[in-house]
Amino acid sequence: MPQTITTSPIITLESAHTSGVYPKRDLTIVRGQGAHLWDDQGRRYIDCVGGQGAANLGHSHPAIVDALARQARTLISCPEIFYNDVRAQYLAELTAAAPGDLNRAFLSNSGAEAIEAALKFARISTGRRQIVAAMRGFHGRTMGALSATWNKKYRGPFLPLVPDFTHIPYNNLAALEAAISDATAAVLLEPIQGEGGVRPADPAFLQAARALCDEHGALLILDEIQTGFGRSGRLFASQRYGVEPDIMALAKSIAGGLPMGATLLGPRVCDLPRMVHGSTFGGNPLTAAAARATLRVLQEERLPQRAARLGEMMLARLRRIESPRIRAVRGAGLMIGVELKSKVGPVLRALQERGVLALPAGATVLRLLPPLVIAEEDLNYVAQAIAEVIRDV
Ligand SMILES: *Cc1c(COP(=O)(O)O)cnc(C)c1O
Repeated sequence: MPQTITTSPIITLESAHTSGVYPKRDLTIVRGQGAHLWDDQGRRYIDCVGGQGAANLGHSHPAIVDALARQARTLISCPEIFYNDVRAQYLAELTAAAPGDLNRAFLSNSGAEAIEAALKFARISTGRRQIVAAMRGFHGRTMGALSATWNKKYRGPFLPLVPDFTHIPYNNLAALEAAISDATAAVLLEPIQGEGGVRPADPAFLQAARALCDEHGALLILDEIQTGFGRSGRLFASQRYGVEPDIMALAKSIAGGLPMGATLLGPRVCDLPRMVHGSTFGGNPLTAAAARATLRVLQEERLPQRAARLGEMMLARLRRIESPRIRAVRGAGLMIGVELKSKVGPVLRALQERGVLALPAGATVLRLLPPLVIAEEDLNYVAQAIAEVIRDV
């Protein structure tokens, strides 16, 4: 198929005024429904980008649309200097759904903010500064979250970053043991690395991280920003491992696609002094209403269970593809990575031509984050398209 030359007025307009930091695809998306997206030419795509993890419920889920419309007519802004009915109910429901005794939450507006709060609260609770994070870890792009993020591509231009962060090889128990000490404030890990290539933690590694934190009086922070809200086949991926964190960072699919972050706090996080942190938009009733509807839909439609079932089917199908060009197929639930022996770019473009939108995770990993509501036949089509594209490209 010939590459279309793009002179669309939308692309021209956006290109003239956008910041430039995003590598953009030659595609203008104007509408979404469930696991489908449509471009400005009316062409339909199966969405395995899933809002980069923010669309677990699919696009424009009617429960989210209704909750937003109703709350928008009632109250949109309400800073946390006041109490609010919807926020109070959401805090109770979120902490009840969370693992262990994560009974309090700080609400914000993005993943990076959820991590910033986690880092600050860990420092204030322990009186220590050192943070142990992992190579290939991704935790966001603000200066604190970036200090925990490993990839030089993100960090390089902004050195020096916040001091006292160390990065150990993920799933390397000996390295973790060597890095953690009585000066460690927290160990910060993704239970399944997303951006770093869809790499699940070894259960023994995550369980040892929990034990080592206990031994040294450090806090365990789990970044479930991408793995949370059903993605991994459980509501939270830590539940797959039986590991309870002291702090859990959430965002992405937390509010049905709206911007929101949350930092959940267990009993080892101190009573936080007034004014040590805050956010103008944090805990606003509009996103809280969307987040309440999101939790309800996840439970009523049994979406974590659906992700577990469809994910196993998909992993099995992808593992049956016989190709010398595939190095590994990894994942949990509907968070799936296909590691190639070559660059993933051409595969993504060929999939797009076949009507499938997918993500990279690093240079060589094809990442699928479809909405958990995706139809089984759409997933079958995606598996077939991946097999063909890997054979042909
Ligand atoms: C996306 C992501 C973040 C950052 O979230 P933003 O909302 O983009 O700031 C942090 N951690 C993980 C694991 C992520 O996947």
